[in-house]
Formats: sequence, structure tokens, C-alpha cells
Amino acid sequence: MKISVLVTGGAGYIGSHTCIALAEAGFTPIILDNYGNSSPKVMERLARITGQAAPLAIEGDVRDRALLDRLFAEHEIGAVIHFAGLKAVGDSVADPLSYYDNNVYGSLVLAAAMRSAGVRTLIFSSSATVYGEPDESPIPEDAPTRPANPYGRSKLMVEEAYGDLGRSEPGWRIALLRYFNPVGAHESGLIGEHPQGKPNNLMPFVSQVAVGQRPHLTVHGGDYPTPDGTGVRDYVHVMDLAEGHVAALRHALAHEGLLTLNLGTGRGGSVLDVVAAFERACGKSVPRVIGPRRPGDVPAYWADPSAAKAVLGWEARRSLDQMCADSWRWQSGNPNGY
Ligand code: NAD
Ligand code: UDP
Repeated sequence: MKISVLVTGGAGYIGSHTCIALAEAGFTPIILDNYGNSSPKVMERLARITGQAAPLAIEGDVRDRALLDRLFAEHEIGAVIHFAGLKAVGDSVADPLSYYDNNVYGSLVLAAAMRSAGVRTLIFSSSATVYGEPDESPIPEDAPTRPANPYGRSKLMVEEAYGDLGRSEPGWRIALLRYFNPVGAHESGLIGEHPQGKPNNLMPFVSQVAVGQRPHLTVHGGDYPTPDGTGVRDYVHVMDLAEGHVAALRHALAHEGLLTLNLGTGRGGSVLDVVAAFERACGKSVPRVIGPRRPGDVPAYWADPSAAKAVLGWEARRSLDQMCADSWRWQSGNPNGY
């Protein structure tokens, strides 16, 4: 029998791509999303991509305990993948309470509802931001955690709460996945990332410049101690990440206990590497100007993804060129999103 997986935030960027990987792996995703940063229109795209019925999607909030209890009672749910949350670092500094409410309180309500329902398999979206400014790269999972903003602290608080929960009683199967920089889109070009307003992140910004919606990219700093002076990150294709969730889910279903894993490629790419790869993908030049450093930015970091390979047998397969080609296919085909 197919196992149903509750995917909170499943209409969002990473969640929607993960729903494809889940469906392709024989799971049945059930989406819970408040559409605060997404659109129900993604469902029809998911159906087109998978050739299966659109996932069941429930509009609602992870902080709504009564709704969660109803969901667990009405559906035979075997596991939960918890993406729902807020993710803009700058907003978290301006409005920390909404981040602690949504990300921390929401995660606690969800875990309590799971506990009551007897569902104890949980995959959680954490972030490399929990490391803050690392002492060295590649970053292993046992590196110190010292997040530098409320968003990162909200993720670390949930990691700690879920860790304590997992150790408090037998039966829990919890994977805390620390993503590096997810980019790209499904290769069909039918789903992808569509930030509201001006993008904060590099890849959506470059995409919008390439499609003509913005005049140029501002490179935040050209004088870092990196090979070309620009910031270095570990960009990982969103479909590789999606497949990492399926691998973590399979592992959790087969093994009790708590896992904390980095999901990244293990390679760093600079801002100018991304621009060059994007120019190859779209066949146009991406105008850019070098601006000042962005306050709070770490010069360079990338993952040590060897634990995910050893434990899950997962490793990122897609190149930076493919990340850019797929982003471009999505952006050029859907310049205004869904
Ligand atoms: P996203 O905003 O596209 O997806 C989040 C989804 O959750 C959205 O569909 C939103 O409407 C929904 N949501 C938010 N709060 C909710 C709530 N209280 N109840 C129900 N639904 C709610 O973001 P994403 O990039 O897909 O990120 C998914 C998760 O991964 C987040 O938890 C994020 O913090 C984490 N993460 C993202 C990145 C990244 O760079 N994109 C990196 C590391 C970790
Ligand atoms: N960046 C940039 N211009 C932009 C957005 C980002 O130069 O408009 C740089 C940023 O300084 C960093 C890299 O691109 O070195 C990745 O930034 P992003 O915000 O995508 O990810 P994060 O900094 O959160 O890892």
C-alpha cells in the first residue's frame, strides 16, 4: 500500500519539487499550506508533471491544532515532511516574533499533534544558517552552531526541540536536514521559485535580470578573500534536494532515531560563477555592477555532504549549469509566476 506523507508547506518552492519526487517514488503526498507564500495553482502543474492526480491539498495553518488533529484522524498518514515556515533573514530581524511564532510554535504544534496521532516519522527543513559564520569549509554536521539572526535561531530552536523529543521516548524517527543554497527548478520548466517582490536571493535576481524585469544585478561585494573576490556558496539543485528528502524519508521509515544531515554538493560557487553559468544557459549577457558587501554576509562556505552519502546513499548529481538552465526554463516560460 502506498504510504501517505503529510507535506506542510508543500505548495512552496522546495515542497512542491519534493511532492514530485515523492509521487515518483511511490508515496502519496498530502499538502497542508496556508498559501502565504505560494499558490494553489501549483497543484495542476504537479499533476501535469507526474501524470498522476493532483495531490490532495488542504488550505490551513500548521499552528491550527484542531485542523491537524482532524487531518491525522481522517487520513492514514505514515510520515510528515515539515517545510512550512518563513524564510527571509531580513524580515526575521525586523519582525522576530512572527518568525518564532510561525517557525518555532508551528513546529511544536505539529509535533504535538503527531504525538497524539501516533505518527512519529518526521523530516524537518533546517538550514545551513544554523552554522552562522563557520570556522572552516567544508562544514561537517558537528561544526559549532551559532546562527546570526532570528531566522537561523528559529531553525536551531526547532532542531533542539525535535532532538529532545526524539530522545524522550522510543519510536521517533526524525531527520533534521540542513540545506545549503537550493536553486534551480524542475526540468519541465512548469514549477519553480517565484519570490514576492524584489528577490533577496541571488538566483531569482539573476533570472529576473536575464528575463528583462530588472536592469542589472548588484554583486554584493567584490573584495572578499575568495578566488574572484565575490561570495561563495554551495548551490544545490532543488530536485537533488527533493530526492534527498525521499532518501531521508526511506531511511527514517526503516530506522528509529535522530539524524542531522547536511544537504549540499560539497562545492562552492562564486557569484560570478553563477552569473557566467546563467549567461551560458540563457545565451544573453547578465549586466552586473559590483556594489558594497551586504551586511551580515559570510564570505564563503560550503557543505561537507559525506554523511548524507554514507547514511542515505544520497549525493547531489546536478551541475551549476543544469541549475541555471532549469531556472531559465522556468523563468522565461513563467515570467510572472503561476
Ligand atoms: P516557500 O516559502 O516557497 O515555502 C514555504 C511554504 O510554507 C509556502 O508555501 C508557505 O505558504 C507555507 N507556509 C508558511 N507558513 C505556514 C504555516 N504557518 N502554515 C501552513 N503553511 C505555511 O519556502 P521554501 O524555499 O520552499 O522553503 C521551505 C522550507 O525550507 C522552509 O522551512 C525554509 O525555511 C527551509 N529552507 C529554505 C531554504 C531556501 O533557500 N529556500 C534554505 C534552507 C532552508
Ligand atoms: N548576492 C549578490 N547579489 C544579490 C543577491 C545575492 O551578490 O542580489 C550574493 C550574496 O552576497 C551571497 C550570494 O550571492 O554571496 C548568495 O546569496 P543568497 O542571498 O542567494 O544566499 P545566502 O547569502 O542566504 O546564502
